[in-house]
Amino acid sequence: MFCFDQSSNHAAMARDALIVTNMNLNPAGSQPVLRDGWFLDGETRKVQKVQDNNGVPKGIMAILKERNIWPEGRFVLQCKDRCISTSCCAKTLLANQPDFLAQTSVIEETVKRGGHTVSFYPKFHCETNFIERYWGVLHVRGATTPSPTSAFRSLLS
Ligand SMILES: [Zn+2]
Repeated sequence: MFCFDQSSNHAAMARDALIVTNMNLNPAGSQPVLRDGWFLDGETRKVQKVQDNNGVPKGIMAILKERNIWPEGRFVLQCKDRCISTSCCAKTLLANQPDFLAQTSVIEETVKRGGHTVSFYPKFHCETNFIERYWGVLHVRGATTPSPTSAFRSLLS
């Protein structure tokens, strides 16, 4: 098991992660090339290419239409102020699809790919991190060591 604190570095996503942030409504343009997605068609889980056969990103509209969840009428890429539901705009609708919701950080993917489990310590509760106990012991020893070396003292500062 690998345990990590809630450092923002530990939440970094892979380049091809299923994230809608930089996706466009329409094909091509400046948008990332993402890994395959998936969706449920009844009971069947279908893999969905999010690029066309030439490797060009399809865009959110095509992805949602292939999933048969593109609403009729006008649908904006993203709400101007803040989103009001899980289907108010194209980005929010796609971001709330199971494959996009299941996207995890690159560190979690890497650990799990190696056959291990991963856990993240609760945010703002460093006391739950076992390494803090070792630091605590180190501080006590530093305070009670008659003549600690400068290297040891620098660890405590
Ligand atoms: Zn919205």
